Amino acid sequence: MTPAGESAALRLRELIEGARSVVPFTGAGISTECGIPDFRSPGGIWTKYQPIQFEDFLASQEMRDESWRRRLAMDPQFSTARPGRGHLALAGLHRAGKVPAVITQNIDNLHQASGIPDAAVVELHGNTTYATCLDCARRYELGWVRERFGTSGRSPDCECGGYIKTATVSFGQAMPEGPMRRAEELTLSCDLFLAIGSSLVVWPAAGFPLMAKRNGAKLVILNRDATEFDDVADLVIHEDIGSVLAPFVAH
Ligand SMILES: [Zn+2]
Repeated sequence: MTPAGESAALRLRELIEGARSVVPFTGAGISTECGIPDFRSPGGIWTKYQPIQFEDFLASQEMRDESWRRRLAMDPQFSTARPGRGHLALAGLHRAGKVPAVITQNIDNLHQASGIPDAAVVELHGNTTYATCLDCARRYELGWVRERFGTSGRSPDCECGGYIKTATVSFGQAMPEGPMRRAEELTLSCDLFLAIGSSLVVWPAAGFPLMAKRNGAKLVILNRDATEFDDVADLVIHEDIGSVLAPFVAH
């Protein structure tokens, strides 16, 4: 870390120690050290493939097949990923009673894998490590989908006839109401909001840091690159996320 980074990390510790309730909001940057690609960065998945819109997934078997082919091809990265230093630091702060819950744009399940209970992880974009039926919401594991897909070469349907899709929010799909409401409540209840590893450009998720700030909370932005909210933040740290948060990992 740079000397400026070191002093910013000390300031971060002071802010966390002085806060009553800390709400972290995480994006892809917290998971890059775990081998999960940042979908939107240069060289990321979405610069190679055109994302499949939700209405196209619904409209054609071919698109559903293509969607599952892509997801299964990425499975080695998702299924072998382990929580990074940032995840472990937040899990420690959760156990210490500082962090009531984590809001995340990530779909990789790594906050849960770090020991934060499911109920304390608010997923704005869903979860790609399992699938659900779009009609009856029944859960399906990816191993089951892989087996069916391997046998038939087609994406399987639910017993009820509904389409089975990863439990993620696709492009063109409505944001999930429950998690959005919960994220808002958390944002308005904290006195320190930590935006970590998010470029803060994906709306409506990008609204939360500003909402926290307007409500009187302090705002910290920890991200490798500059964001458009840097000017309003109380502390901005452009350093490697894992290195900055490593001192918070409980031993
Ligand atoms: Zn179903």
